[in-house]
Amino acid sequence: MLEAKVGGQLVQAGPDSPEKALCPACGGAVSKRKRCRMDGSVTYFYRHARGVGEGCPLRYDARASVRP
Ligand SMILES: [Zn+2]
Repeated sequence: MLEAKVGGQLVQAGPDSPEKALCPACGGAVSKRKRCRMDGSVTYFYRHARGVGEGCPLRYDARASVRP
């Protein structure tokens, strides 16, 4: 997901965001990942730790957001 909870607040994944955070949907541990795109820009997102968030709606979609 693009946003995760850190210290009770939603933060957007980015170069300065924490490496470790919590999933806003299931509360499971997530870690920051970065992806280089074809055009050379870099995008950041959070992904569940291994074995965490089974069945979580945000688990399989890196671009998912808890916001409508
Ligand atoms: Zn989750």
